[in-house]
Amino acid sequence: MQPPIYLDNAASTRLDPRVLDAMLPHLGECYGNAASHTHVYGWRAEEAVARARAQVAQLLNCAGEELIWTSGATESNNLALRGLIAGLATRGRRVLSPRTEHASVLAPLRDLAARGQIELSLLDVRRDGSLDLQAFAEALRPGTVLASVMWVNNETGVVQDIAAISAICRAHGVLLHVDATQAVGKLAIDLSALDIAALSFSAHKLHGPQGIGALYLRREVRAHLQPQQLGGSQEQGLRAGTLPVHQIVGCAEACRLAQLALPQEGERLRRLRDRLWQGLSQLPGVFLNGHASVHAPQILNVGFEQLPPLALLEKLSATLAISGGAACSSAQAQASPVLLALGRSPQQALSSLRFSLGRYSSEQDVDLAIEQVAQALRQLRSATAKTPAAGEEKDCPMKRMRRRAQQRAAQIPGVGA
Ligand code: PMP
Repeated sequence: MQPPIYLDNAASTRLDPRVLDAMLPHLGECYGNAASHTHVYGWRAEEAVARARAQVAQLLNCAGEELIWTSGATESNNLALRGLIAGLATRGRRVLSPRTEHASVLAPLRDLAARGQIELSLLDVRRDGSLDLQAFAEALRPGTVLASVMWVNNETGVVQDIAAISAICRAHGVLLHVDATQAVGKLAIDLSALDIAALSFSAHKLHGPQGIGALYLRREVRAHLQPQQLGGSQEQGLRAGTLPVHQIVGCAEACRLAQLALPQEGERLRRLRDRLWQGLSQLPGVFLNGHASVHAPQILNVGFEQLPPLALLEKLSATLAISGGAACSSAQAQASPVLLALGRSPQQALSSLRFSLGRYSSEQDVDLAIEQVAQALRQLRSATAKTPAAGEEKDCPMKRMRRRAQQRAAQIPGVGA
């Protein structure tokens, strides 16, 4: 039995073996603390971190000192939003964000709003997921201190016009935070040419290790950021804690490799995505979630009309590792708020599939995926969906999928048990 084809790179990517090679010495003989200034072990660690900082800075075209290592984009988003909002409290309390942001942006903002610390405006997006820039500019009313806009949407792949958005923010004297988790390593990013105050990303979306990322913080903004984690003086006192040198070195190697491959890899992914859409768009009742042309090269989100919720995802789970337009909470599958914000019905959201490509995705993977979806769809459309066994129907379909997969897993090399 073959393991499912991995097309869920927006969730996480396979570690590049070259990244692992770069990390290994720092999990072995190089075990010093980068903050130890009294011996060679510490100096080596400090030098490795400095080299890594320079490599990441090169990909983003910023200064190394403008980067703060974090445990990933969730922490970067929390640090940027909570830290800047606290630092800017005397200037104003309005914060603006589209309602299609990632939970690691929306949850801290909603929390601050619930505590009465900010006045939060969540902006609607168009049906194709893009922001109406005029509406955005109009919403930057006096008292607005911060806007947070993601570069590439993790569910739909829609790309926002960050250059235009940053110019609008500058003209209104509003700081801009950008969640670039799905953009770094996929799109060319030149921070020297943009008025971005803060930008977040995670290494594991670009074939680096999980649990490491960074927050870019523009030099002039540093004084406004109130640290959210106190302790030692690491990261200029803005993020305390011993630096995980192996993770940092892995993050930097992933960035170096991504930079080497750009823009050819972007083009390759774009061709694969187009091929996938070309194949899927022939199927009956299919629709695109997102923008037809302004999208990242690696993400494709499609929905299918008139299918039982999650039926297609469930049918495909043995052969394709993809994700759908739902989150499981208790027994009920909840439709993705991002897809609902694009005007999809809960039924449409719950029969949507997100395919996301990566360095190890091939044409063969894409062709097999098209075939598998076509076959599953034929089966679902021709027969009534499989009736769940007694007791199963109360389960969230995603839990059911997992239980069935676990029964199969023992037979699959590499992902078993
Ligand atoms: N923002 C976006 C756009 C993401 O896709 C993700 C990961 N799904 C995150 C933030 C959070 O990243 P992490 O889980 O690595 O902290």
